[in-house]
Amino acid sequence: MNSFNFEPLALPAQTAGLRREVREFLREELAGMTPRERAHTWQGFDAGFSRKLGEKGWIGMTWPREYGGQERSVLERYVLLEELLAAGAPVAAHWIADRQSGTLLLRFGREEVRRRYLPAMACGELFCCIGMSEPNSGSDLASIRTRATRVDGGWKVNGSKLWTTNADKAHLMIALVRTSREEDSRHAGLSQFIIELSSPGVTVKPVVDHTGAAHFGEVFFSDVFVADEMLLGNEGDGWAQVNAELALERSGPERYLSSYRLLEELVAAAGPDPSPRLTELIGELTAELWTLRQMSLSVAGQLAGGGTPALEAAIVKDLGARFEQELPPLVQAALDDEALGSSGTALQDVLDYLLRASPAFSLRGGTREILRGIIAKGLGLR
Ligand SMILES: Cc1cc2nc3c(=O)[nH]c(=O)nc-3n(C[C@H](O)[C@H](O)[C@H](O)COP(=O)(O)OP(=O)(O)OC[C@H]3O[C@@H](n4cnc5c(N)ncnc54)[C@H](O)[C@@H]3O)c2cc1C
Repeated sequence: MNSFNFEPLALPAQTAGLRREVREFLREELAGMTPRERAHTWQGFDAGFSRKLGEKGWIGMTWPREYGGQERSVLERYVLLEELLAAGAPVAAHWIADRQSGTLLLRFGREEVRRRYLPAMACGELFCCIGMSEPNSGSDLASIRTRATRVDGGWKVNGSKLWTTNADKAHLMIALVRTSREEDSRHAGLSQFIIELSSPGVTVKPVVDHTGAAHFGEVFFSDVFVADEMLLGNEGDGWAQVNAELALERSGPERYLSSYRLLEELVAAAGPDPSPRLTELIGELTAELWTLRQMSLSVAGQLAGGGTPALEAAIVKDLGARFEQELPPLVQAALDDEALGSSGTALQDVLDYLLRASPAFSLRGGTREILRGIIAKGLGLR
């Protein structure tokens, strides 16, 4: 059996100054937000707030300066993300560009395309979405049917994408599409394109989830022209590229902090002298949270060192989603027994939202079953 590596990592002392600076900024900027709004964490969309982060140099902060970045370290970025998420900052507008699309452009984009888009992403003015899933192709991503066919000067795209987060507000989609027949391998013949969503032939239809919000949608492509330079990497390399992209998507602190607001509100409502039952619950949850943080930090350290910890990232996402989903029912059971958090309180309000939002936490970014398959493969068990 293969093994995994969660080498412990301590954040360098020089990150403490950045943490203080971010906390101070957020205290002022977010003063008017309600606990329920903060509970939306990385689904909270506020283009104005993203622009302010851009002005601070806190989007794309690890990117080269020539593309609008600050050339700061992966671990400094980690500290920034932790503070944003713990405070419940509305980061959705720029989150995908900062986390993965910008990095993909840096790795695989043509030079002219990098110069066209990256500085605007870093300013918090250009937002991205992920075009992987389609109707009938989610877990089985290699079965996608959206197709690009060669035309003079570029490609024509036809098909549709589903569950695309912020499809109605994003400017660009990085889409995985089929550029040749499936032939021997279903993975061959897939390519990634940058598609401007304002292009003629693109239609976006919002999809409402069971919290009542329409934060994702379905995107239809009808003879959409995409110029040659918008191809990312080489034609036919889309499968390898999309897997590298998923590793970026799976290990960050957003994979265990989505229910964090509830823990904060529980601690506040429990007061300075909680019952033994609440003390035990808060202690258990905090220990689990801290362990996940150490694991996620270890992955960040490996990424900073140029490693590709895809197995470890899948483990963090699987255990992190389990934690995020267990928190709301555990708190609800404790509240029923302890007569805490009557209706209308911040605690009840956050709990109400998270009980409805959390089932999706183990779907987005790859389902539990798919992650466990990856983990079993990584360990050499299948
Ligand atoms: C909040 C949210 C945001 C999202 N945002 C985006 C986005 O921005 N861009 C994007 O492209 N996608 C996005 N998705 C889509 C997400 O990636 C898919 O929902 C997910 O990959 C599952 O695909 P599916 O919905 O087609 O379900 P299916 O693949 O049909 O799976 C249904 C069930 O069958 C199980 N299953 C499937 N195959 C296997 C197998 N081989 N072995 C064992 N069990 C299996 C799954 O685990 C799941 O429980 C988002 C989803 C959510 C909930």
